[in-house]
Amino acid sequence: MAAAKKPRYVDVSNPSLSVQCPNCGLQTARFIDYCRNCGYKLWPSSAIASAAFTAWRDETPGRDEVSRYDLALPGPQVDTTVDYGERAHKLGIHIFPNSNYPFTICVGAFFLALAAIPLDSSARIVLAVIGGIIFLYGVVGWVLIEDVRMFPSDAPQTHGEAQH
Ligand SMILES: [Zn+2]
Repeated sequence: MAAAKKPRYVDVSNPSLSVQCPNCGLQTARFIDYCRNCGYKLWPSSAIASAAFTAWRDETPGRDEVSRYDLALPGPQVDTTVDYGERAHKLGIHIFPNSNYPFTICVGAFFLALAAIPLDSSARIVLAVIGGIIFLYGVVGWVLIEDVRMFPSDAPQTHGEAQH
C-alpha cells in the first residue's frame, strides 16, 4: 500500500516549498494540487500531492514542522519578546507598574458601592470607612510606593529645580 501511494516524481533534494506556476508564473505552494492563483492543476490529485509532500518532508529532518500549505520553510526561531517596561523607560514614557494593587482598589470600590445601598446609616458608614481605607491603601500602594520604586527618576525632586 505504501508503495502504491508513493509518488513517482518528486525532487526531494529541492528544499523549496513553493513553485512558480507554469500557467500564471506566480509563486504557489508546491505540494497543493492546484495553483492558488489561477487554479492550474499542478498534481494529478490531492492524494498524490500529499504523498509527494510526505516523501519530501521525510527526506530531511528539518522539514518536520512545515505544512504543505506553507510557501517557505520557517526561518530560524527569533526571540520576539519585547521588554515594554524597559523600552518605555528609554523613551521616557511613563507606564504604570505591574501590580496587584488594582485588585485592592477594586475591593475597596466594592465596599464603597455597598455603602451606596440605602441601608441603616450606621452600616453604611462602617462600609464606607472599610471601603475607603482599602481603596486608599490600594491607591497609595500603587501610585505612591510601587510607581515611585519603579520610576525613581520621575519622583519629584526636592532639590535641583527648586534652586533655580
Ligand atoms: Zn497559476
